[in-house]
Amino acid sequence: MLNVGSVARKIRKHKARRIFIQVPEGLKTRILGFARELEKNGKRGLKVLISVDPCYGACDLRDNEAKALGCDLILHLGHSDFGLKSKIPVIYEELRMDYDPTPLLMIALNDLKPFKKIGLVTTVQFLSSLDHARKFLQKRRKKVYVGSPRRGNPGQVLGCDFSAAKDLEGTVDCFLFMGSGTFHPLGLSMAVKKPVFFLDFEGTQLLDLKDEKRRMENIRLLQIENAKSCKSFGILVSTKPGQMRIKTAEESKEKLEKMGKKAWILVADELTPEKLLGLQIDCIVNTACPRMREDSRLFKKTIIDPDDVDKLKE
Ligand code: SF4
Repeated sequence: MLNVGSVARKIRKHKARRIFIQVPEGLKTRILGFARELEKNGKRGLKVLISVDPCYGACDLRDNEAKALGCDLILHLGHSDFGLKSKIPVIYEELRMDYDPTPLLMIALNDLKPFKKIGLVTTVQFLSSLDHARKFLQKRRKKVYVGSPRRGNPGQVLGCDFSAAKDLEGTVDCFLFMGSGTFHPLGLSMAVKKPVFFLDFEGTQLLDLKDEKRRMENIRLLQIENAKSCKSFGILVSTKPGQMRIKTAEESKEKLEKMGKKAWILVADELTPEKLLGLQIDCIVNTACPRMREDSRLFKKTIIDPDDVDKLKE
C-alpha cells in the first residue's frame, strides 16, 4: 500500500527538500519506518517532519504549520484532494486496497433481489472494489450506477459529502455501500431517501441500515427536543481549512439570539470535552466535521447541526 519508491519519485519531481507528512491514525504504526525510508531514498538530504495530530481527512490541511516549519511540500497520506488551496504544494497519496468483494456479494445477493438498479458507493481506500462489484452485479442482470461527486473520484463518498449518491437518488432503487466502519454508511443512510445496504468488509456481512437509520433519526429528534430547553449555546468553528464555516456559525448565533438564547462562537482545531471545561454551555452547534456526532456521549451535552437551529422554533 505505502510504496516508498513511488512516493519518493513524486517528491523528487517537486524538488522538495523538507516535507511535512500528515497521516491518518490507521497508518501511524508504519509511519516511522516509512519516513526513514523516504529520507534514505530522497536525494539532496531530504528532511521529513511527521505531524502526529489526528488527521481524519484532506479537509485538515496544515499548510500554515508546514510553511512555518520551513517545509516546501506536504505529503497527505490516505486521502484524496479536498479541493483546498494550499500555500505550498501537496501530494495526496490515496492508498487504495485491492479488495475483491465477490465472495461477500454472493452471500448478499439474496437480500438485493428486489432491487434492479443499484447505486454503488465506497470510500477512497476501497475504490478498486467498485469494478469487481459492478461486474458481479451486471452478470446477475442488475443495472449498476456509480455517481460523480463534487470532490474526489467517481463513486467516492466522504462523511461530509454524499454527492456521489445524491447524484443518483432519482435513478436507483437502492444504494450499496462497500467498506468498513459505520461512520460513512450511516451518514449515507441519513443523507438519502432510498434504502441503503452496507457490505461490511470487516464484519463480512450485508446489513440493511433501515433500522439503524430510524434509530439515528430518533436520536437527532431527541437532541433537537433537548436543545429547545437549552439556554446557552456554543457554536463550534474548526480552524481546519476544509471545516471552517464561520459564516454558518455567525448565522446560527444570530438566529439563536433572536430566539432569546445566549450563544457564543467557540474556535478549536478539534473540539474535545476538556476544552469545554469551565464554560457554561448546555448545547453545542457543530459546524465542523459530522464525525463529532459519534462522540456526543463523551461530551455529555446536546449536540445539534446548524440545520437544526431553525427547528428549535417549532
Ligand atoms: S470534514 Fe470530516 S467527513 Fe469531511 S473530509 Fe473532513 S474528516 Fe472527513
